[in-house]
Amino acid sequence: MSLPEVAIAPFDGPSVCLFCGASDAAHRDYVQSAHDFGAAAAEAGWRLVYGGGGVGLMGAAARSAHAAGGRVLGIMPGFLRSRERLFDDVETVVVTSMHERKQLMYDQSDAFVVAPGGVGTLEEIVELLSWKRLDLHAKPVIFLNVNGFWETFFALMRHSVEEGMTPASFLDAWTVANTVEEAIDQLQATIRRTA
Ligand code: AMP
Repeated sequence: MSLPEVAIAPFDGPSVCLFCGASDAAHRDYVQSAHDFGAAAAEAGWRLVYGGGGVGLMGAAARSAHAAGGRVLGIMPGFLRSRERLFDDVETVVVTSMHERKQLMYDQSDAFVVAPGGVGTLEEIVELLSWKRLDLHAKPVIFLNVNGFWETFFALMRHSVEEGMTPASFLDAWTVANTVEEAIDQLQATIRRTA
């Protein structure tokens, strides 16, 4: 997809895209982990790329990354501005569609972390993984598996392998971090691998 020209301030460190829920009704453990991840990523020198909202886990991660002095880039479709309460204390880009949002999030990031979320998060990460399956990208994907949130998704993927729909090797397309600290360690390891 060709994207319209958008002005984004240069950043010479690594960028992590966080996919996570926008729900304000999520269990506090999930919101806390998003908050902790935002701060820890900022402290480790990563720019946080995310969906631009001020709600749910998204808002928690963006606010804490910003408070910790990190760079944050929010990417929001115009029609969701009020619904997802655009968090514009940080750099934000307003795009016209969900497709543009995802494409820009992918393009601006070196690695992806998937925190607990709803159907929107699922949509985003299934596309991300399906693109990896098609060799359209090879960027690291780390599931932040707080309280085992993603176990049922992993079970579905194993079922797909067992039924011959997906090669077993594809189960290596992502890694799992059970804590924020593990997620940061895995992110840092991706830098060491590419250095
Ligand atoms: P949810 O996990 O349902 O709380 O949604 C998390 C985020 O995913 C929200 O910011 C949604 O706007 C976003 N989202 C949902 N569907 C899409 C899509 N097709 N493309 C891009 N973002 C999406």
